[in-house]
Amino acid sequence: MNAIQHNAQQDNDKLYRFLFQNRAVRGEWVRLNDTFTETLNTHHYPKAVQNLLGEMLVATSLLTATLKFEGTITVQIQGDGALKLAVVNGNDQQQLRALARVEGEIAEDATLSQMIGQGVLVISIIPEKGERYQGVISLDKPTISECLEDYFARSEQLATQLVIRVGEFDGKAVAGGTLLQIMPDGTGTSEDFEHLATLASTIKAEELFGLTAEELLFRLFHEETVEVYPPQSTVFHCGCSRERSGAAIMLLPDEEIVEMLAEKNGVIDMQCECCGTQYFFDEKAIAELKQG
Ligand SMILES: [Zn+2]
Repeated sequence: MNAIQHNAQQDNDKLYRFLFQNRAVRGEWVRLNDTFTETLNTHHYPKAVQNLLGEMLVATSLLTATLKFEGTITVQIQGDGALKLAVVNGNDQQQLRALARVEGEIAEDATLSQMIGQGVLVISIIPEKGERYQGVISLDKPTISECLEDYFARSEQLATQLVIRVGEFDGKAVAGGTLLQIMPDGTGTSEDFEHLATLASTIKAEELFGLTAEELLFRLFHEETVEVYPPQSTVFHCGCSRERSGAAIMLLPDEEIVEMLAEKNGVIDMQCECCGTQYFFDEKAIAELKQG
């Protein structure tokens, strides 16, 4: 058991892309270990919210890896339930971050619809160069994965499968998943895709968490020729900075800034909601910001 775990650890916080050579179907495998736990670090989310963020982190990582350009994907849930907002951000460097806003009680085993009430999933794709794209998906399926599969089938006409598992391994939170997608060039058949997707749907959580990517792919698809490309590392990265916090203060009206300084004994304390980092601005710092 120890030997297997040790071996599997080499694929912690890694994303792999692979290709079924005779099927015109591509795939991805990702496992978020520290990436996931560091995202949760400064927060005490209810268990169900934590699991949802894990699912969204994996989905965002897998979606970002399908991009052909440098840029960012934001996956956001807005609802009218106790979970007001859940948002995950990922880029082509596989830097990920997540944030949720909860108002009220959420049961440990709450379902997606129990948490969000009436809600939508908004996907924003923001290339560094070129046009932004936004898609709005109704959250009328039991899981994020199913909502996204439906979205791909409708908007991109691309058969896509997401298998996502969130849980614990070795006493630590972990989230992982796979994506299968028919090649966009039209050479793949739906029979081939369905065959592979049926195999992938049998993935167990302990296989995603406790095996290397290659071990899992071999276990699932040992009759296939699968070309596996070198992995990319995933990492929790917030992207907040003192400059950005200062810029946020400068958006406030002058009298409000003066009021805040008075209320807070001369030091405005900006805390990043996402990672918990605090940035302090006293009167002198505010004056410098105003000078630009
Ligand atoms: Zn931050």
